Amino acid sequence: MSTNPPETDAPCVVDKPASYHIGPQEIGEEEIALVTDALRSKNLFRYLKPVEDSYTARFENEFREVTGVKHVLAVNSGTSAIICGLVGLGVSSGDEVIIPAYTYIATAAAILAVRAIPVVAEIDDSLTLDPADVEKKITPRTKAIIPVHMRGTPSRMDELVAIARKHGLKVLEDCAQCNGGNYKGRPVGSIGDAGAFSLQQFKIITAGEGGAFVTNDKTIFDRGGCYHDAAFSFWMEADPTSRLTIPTFVGENYRLSDLNGALVLAQLRKRDRILGQLRAIKKRMLAHLDGIKNIKLQEQPDPAGDCGISLVFFVESAERARRVAEALRKEGMAAGSVFDKGIPDRHIYYHWDYVLEKRSSDVYGQPWTDTARPCQVNYDKDMCPRSVDILGRCVVIPLTQVMSDAHVESCGVAFRKVLARV
Ligand SMILES: *Cc1c(COP(=O)(O)O)cnc(C)c1O
Repeated sequence: MSTNPPETDAPCVVDKPASYHIGPQEIGEEEIALVTDALRSKNLFRYLKPVEDSYTARFENEFREVTGVKHVLAVNSGTSAIICGLVGLGVSSGDEVIIPAYTYIATAAAILAVRAIPVVAEIDDSLTLDPADVEKKITPRTKAIIPVHMRGTPSRMDELVAIARKHGLKVLEDCAQCNGGNYKGRPVGSIGDAGAFSLQQFKIITAGEGGAFVTNDKTIFDRGGCYHDAAFSFWMEADPTSRLTIPTFVGENYRLSDLNGALVLAQLRKRDRILGQLRAIKKRMLAHLDGIKNIKLQEQPDPAGDCGISLVFFVESAERARRVAEALRKEGMAAGSVFDKGIPDRHIYYHWDYVLEKRSSDVYGQPWTDTARPCQVNYDKDMCPRSVDILGRCVVIPLTQVMSDAHVESCGVAFRKVLARV
């Protein structure tokens, strides 16, 4: 294939995939068979079956194997998985929890839901937490760090875990966008003290809505489990191997329906095949960017562990990022820029209005107004300028496992054409 940009201004025809939802587009006979069987059983409540027989329990068992952790609890969302993780770790009123400037707003919301205070730290060129800035944000109130493995990229876990150990902090991995990612050979979720996954529609595999809370520590698991179900201890009594090791306390209801459990069990069995396809596609896409000047690729703390769900590069200015993304879209690609002050993307702290303005559902303004431990954190839109700069200069190409060879080749043509001219 010629590497010269085509001479014409006419858009090249990039044959876009029909969908960018990775798990949902795999829904096929396997999912239909398991979900139908769950329906035919007329029993969608996991604890009405012998403990190991529910689809939800079978998902948990298989997820435990592939994640390399001792305990997995399926829950009804990624947000509830983070809440279970925070409760599990003992995060309490007025504690500070450090999160990256780039994560879905639910990470911050989960912290507020347990009456703790999110502290926002800078990201670096990996689009994940910058360990040096995390260390600067630690105060005597800090209880935990939540590395978020954004867009399939594992965070710098060696550095983050070392900082946490040095300061006596807990680590909760937000793996919502990195199901199946690895860091130096270890599955994400198994590296910190606990991990949280989302199984929502937009994630790598889906339960429709759902999540998973994982940990190697039985006490953390029992605490999170209690919070996920107000009657957890009663269900657990039936199984001598899972009896609680802690006195019970109040919980909500984050249980997963067995219908969703059946769906995600079928999805999980396809996960590593999907990731293999994504990683191969990303490798070929990256080869097309080889030698192109004036761009810089996203850093990967562990390239082999990246999920391959997106390809990100930086250009020298936010203004050029917007023009490049727009030009690539004109060629038929699904390229996007990330940060724009005018477009309220909920993945950037800049647009987390209720956090920045300290709004609350509580009429007394908790947790912001706590008198026992008055909040010492203030927010403003300029507090993470490096993250705003990095995100502004990003061009993101979402990848999906169904991209054909022809599509990947046509993206190469589009890259060469656009990046030479725009
Ligand atoms: C999606 C997502 C969540 C929340 O998951 P839900 O299932 O929507 O509650 C949390 N963190 C990150 C990084 C996410 O992408």
